[in-house]
Amino acid sequence: MRKNYKVTYTRKGYKPKKKLDVEKFFMHIGLPILIIAVLFSGVAIAKNMSTPKYDETIIGSPYSEQLLSLPAPTPTPVPRDDGVAPSFEAEYVQAYNGYEGEKIAYLTFDDGPTSNITPRILDVLKEKDVKATFFVLGKMVEAYPEMAKRAVQEGHVLANHSYSHDYKSVYDSKESFFDEIKRSEELVINTVGEEGYTRVFRFPGGSAGKPDEYKLALSEIDYVYVDWNALNGDAEGHNVAVSTQLANIKETTNGRSSAVILMHDAATKDTTVAALPQIIDYLRSQGFTFKTLKR
Ligand SMILES: [Zn+2]
Repeated sequence: MRKNYKVTYTRKGYKPKKKLDVEKFFMHIGLPILIIAVLFSGVAIAKNMSTPKYDETIIGSPYSEQLLSLPAPTPTPVPRDDGVAPSFEAEYVQAYNGYEGEKIAYLTFDDGPTSNITPRILDVLKEKDVKATFFVLGKMVEAYPEMAKRAVQEGHVLANHSYSHDYKSVYDSKESFFDEIKRSEELVINTVGEEGYTRVFRFPGGSAGKPDEYKLALSEIDYVYVDWNALNGDAEGHNVAVSTQLANIKETTNGRSSAVILMHDAATKDTTVAALPQIIDYLRSQGFTFKTLKR
């Protein structure tokens, strides 16, 4: 039947005419559209490559052995039903957030504690009843132990961001890498106790481009590492405007069911404190609840 129909169709002369139309259409409309689409996707790909902060893959661990060392959540998370293959990042975060339909935000503050910014961040978190994760530096805990203690007393968790944050020391060798982590761990545990600490590491500068050797070595000392998949952009300069931070949060959390949000607890981050209430309110308005990265 089908074949007969085709023959009839051709005999009536529709096909050549149709073919000509298709060619015309392609040359005059389709081809320019195709060229524009290719150019745009090229730009989009290049943009993605140059802004890894928006890349899903930069958060979490690409090494399954590290993820397997995590305790299984109870009950076991239901895989997402949106056809997106779970990445290791998603598995890691899902292990902590993770039930279908639930939106979880993990506020993380790097580089503290400080004497001037930490107490104000803690005030906001208390006021808003939110628990967060502080990726502290050993040297800063050494300088401001009371701030580290207060954070833990108020239900927050301290994670590891190295002792010095000095790339020359942290990334000099595997030995110095371990030294930086262990030195900081010892200090933090001696200051706040085991309960307030979690063996989660964040690479100074992020894990992108850091040697695989270091990433794999973390499991030897029972660590996993976590980057971020959302941010307020407060590292992009001094006193980043509150409106800019909110725009960054909206853009980078858009469409996510779990957002690990990078912010900073350094001495110059006054506007981070100023933006924090609105950041929390915005995330709540989008249906997010808050958790820490405590393992
Ligand atoms: Zn840092």
